Amino acid sequence: MSKFWSNLVHSLTPYVPGEQPKLANLVKLNTNENPYGPSPKVLNVLREEVGDGLRLYPDPNAQSLKQAIASFHGIAAEQVFVGNGSDEVLAHVFLALLKHKRPILFPDVTYSFYPVYCGLYGIAYVTVPLSESYEIEVDDYLKVSGGQCGGIIFPNPNAPTGCLLALAEIERLLEANPESVVVIDEAYVDFGGQAIPSSIPLIARYPNLLVVQTLSKSRALAGLRVGYAIGQSDLIEALERVKNSFNSYPLGRLAIAGGAAAMADRAHFDRTRLAIIASRETLTLSLKELGFEVLPSKANFIFARHPGKDGEELALALRQRGIIVRHFKLPRIAQFLRITVGTDDQCLALVAALAEILS
Ligand code: PMP
Repeated sequence: MSKFWSNLVHSLTPYVPGEQPKLANLVKLNTNENPYGPSPKVLNVLREEVGDGLRLYPDPNAQSLKQAIASFHGIAAEQVFVGNGSDEVLAHVFLALLKHKRPILFPDVTYSFYPVYCGLYGIAYVTVPLSESYEIEVDDYLKVSGGQCGGIIFPNPNAPTGCLLALAEIERLLEANPESVVVIDEAYVDFGGQAIPSSIPLIARYPNLLVVQTLSKSRALAGLRVGYAIGQSDLIEALERVKNSFNSYPLGRLAIAGGAAAMADRAHFDRTRLAIIASRETLTLSLKELGFEVLPSKANFIFARHPGKDGEELALALRQRGIIVRHFKLPRIAQFLRITVGTDDQCLALVAALAEILS
C-alpha cells in the first residue's frame, strides 16, 4: 500500500498464476504446460530470427502470423486478432466487447482471471452456477440473461473442470443473445478429440461469436506468449482499436515467426495432442481405481477429488514427494486437484505417489 497508488490500484485483486518453481527434478503438473515441447520447426525459425538481428521493430500487425492462423483454420486473415498470450487477448476483449451497461455472465467455477479483468475495467458481472455435476447449463444462462446481458464468456472445455459443452448448446446461447457478444475461450479445445470440437466454424453464421485460442497448450509455446481471437471483422476491428491504443508491438519478432511456424506444423500438433489425449484417458482410469472421482475431461488436465482425503492435504503430500499440482481454495472446488496430463512416465509417478499417500 502506498499513498502514491491510484484508487483503482487500491481496489484491484490481481490474478495469481500457478507457481514456476526454480527447483530441479520436480514433476510439474500445475500449470497445464505441454510436456512434449514445440515443433522443431519453431526452434529453427527462432534461430534464424535471432541471426537476422533483433535491431528492428516487429511488424505491428503481425501479418505473417495472422495469415498462418487463418490458413490453419480456413478463414481470412481479417478475421484474426493476435496478442501477447491469450490473457492479453482476453483483456482487450473485456474492454472492447464486454464493457456495457448490463452485467456480463460467466460460470461460478471458471477461469479465475475473468473477475480480475472485470475489476480492472469496472465491468459488472453475474456468475451462473455450474450444475451439480459441474457442467454449464445453457438454460440457466437464458433464464438470467433473458437475451439482455452485457455479454457471456466461458472456456470450452471449461477450466478448471475440463468439461466440454456441445456446439449445439453454444448455438442455442448465440441465438438467444443476438445483442451481446458470446466469447468462447478455447485454450484447451485441441484436446477435445481427434476431431477438434471448436466453435470457429460457427463464426460465419454468428456475428456475435468470438473465439479465443492460445499457442501455450496444444502447441507447447507457453513461454513465447502468443494467443489469438477469431470472429467477424467488426469484432476484430474493435480489438485492434484497443490494442493500438495500448501497445503497437505486443508480439516481438520471435513470437511472430515462432508462432507462424507452429501453426504450419500440423503433423507435430496432431501427434502431440493425440498422445496427451491417450495419456489422459489412462490417467483417468488409474485415478478412478484409486477411488478418485474424476470429472470427464476434454482438456490437457483432469479435475479430481478423493472422498477419503482432503484436497489441500493431498496437494501438500504430493509436493513433499516432488510432484506439484494445482489446488484452488475456492467455494465448491476446495476438495479437487487440477492435474496437468504430463508424459506417461510423469503420470505413472503421480499415480504411484497417490497410491502411497492413500495407503
Ligand atoms: N484461458 C484459460 C481458460 C486458461 O486456463 C489460460 C491459461 N492460464 C488462458 C486463457 C491464458 O493462456 P495464455 O495467456 O498462456 O495464452
